[in-house]
Amino acid sequence: MSSSLRATDGCWRMSAPERRAVLVLGGTAEAVSLADRLVADWGGRFEIVTSLAGRTQTPGAVPGAVRVGGFGGVVPMAAYLKTNHVCAVLDATHPFAAQISENARVASTMAEVPRIVLVRPPWEREPDDNWHMQPDLAAAAAALPKLGRRAFLTVGRTDLSAFASCEDIWFLVRLIDMPDASLPLSAYEVISGRGPFSAAAEQRLLEKHKIDALVCKASGGEATRAKLVAARKHGIPVLMVERPSVPSGPAVDNIDAVVAWLGEQVT
Ligand code: NAP
Repeated sequence: MSSSLRATDGCWRMSAPERRAVLVLGGTAEAVSLADRLVADWGGRFEIVTSLAGRTQTPGAVPGAVRVGGFGGVVPMAAYLKTNHVCAVLDATHPFAAQISENARVASTMAEVPRIVLVRPPWEREPDDNWHMQPDLAAAAAALPKLGRRAFLTVGRTDLSAFASCEDIWFLVRLIDMPDASLPLSAYEVISGRGPFSAAAEQRLLEKHKIDALVCKASGGEATRAKLVAARKHGIPVLMVERPSVPSGPAVDNIDAVVAWLGEQVT
């Protein structure tokens, strides 16, 4: 892969003084940690650019450069990679951000830029967990009325409409930003919050709102794991939506491995 990079991206032979860039596809805590590490280790040699979709009103600080907004699809993304002298794409997006990951796979191939996916390790089920794995959000919405009446819903703003048909359920909805319009749910309260959350705080939340079911995605990671600990302690069932598959190509589950892979591509 490194030889094709050298042969095709033009960067090694560039006469212009542009610095090559490393593109981190972000929107996660892992992407911030990765950018932080890259700026420290490689920032003198490469421009470290994190790409955000622009979904949250106040994204947290990201080390290095940041670009915000969609690329406009696969072809414009491939053009972006070439125009901006990107020599590696590091896909550190959320496990459920399947579209951008697939776009990155195709665009990187088109632009002949190496790409790797940082896959967040999934959560491990513990003996006292009462998890009900669901293939998708629609299945979770269909199963919910059999398990609870007061649900803690943490699937994110753009996926709430899947639960519009749950007319007999009251929802506690946690979002990163407070919404500026009503939600597509019959009965609900919204709270805002950005992880990491503590198990004690999550337990208090479940108790305060008399929650009897938790609905979430199988996102994995530490920042939002505490709700599962709280649900376990309260014996609350968890409807958990399974992850989409990871696009083909190199994939690792930790930042050290991404950095090692990058070193192989660019040296
Ligand atoms: P998605 O469905 O995979 O992507 C939809 C479109 O949004 C993409 O085709 C792309 O638009 C744009 N996009 C997504 N991520 C982008 C990025 N990092 N930089 C530039 N454009 C991006 O994505 P999503 O599920 O809506 O997630 C959006 C962002 O939120 C991701 O960066 C993800 O890491 C983060 N996030 C997602 C979830 C989740 O549950 N899905 C949870 C936490 C954080 P164009 O086609 O125009 O390029």
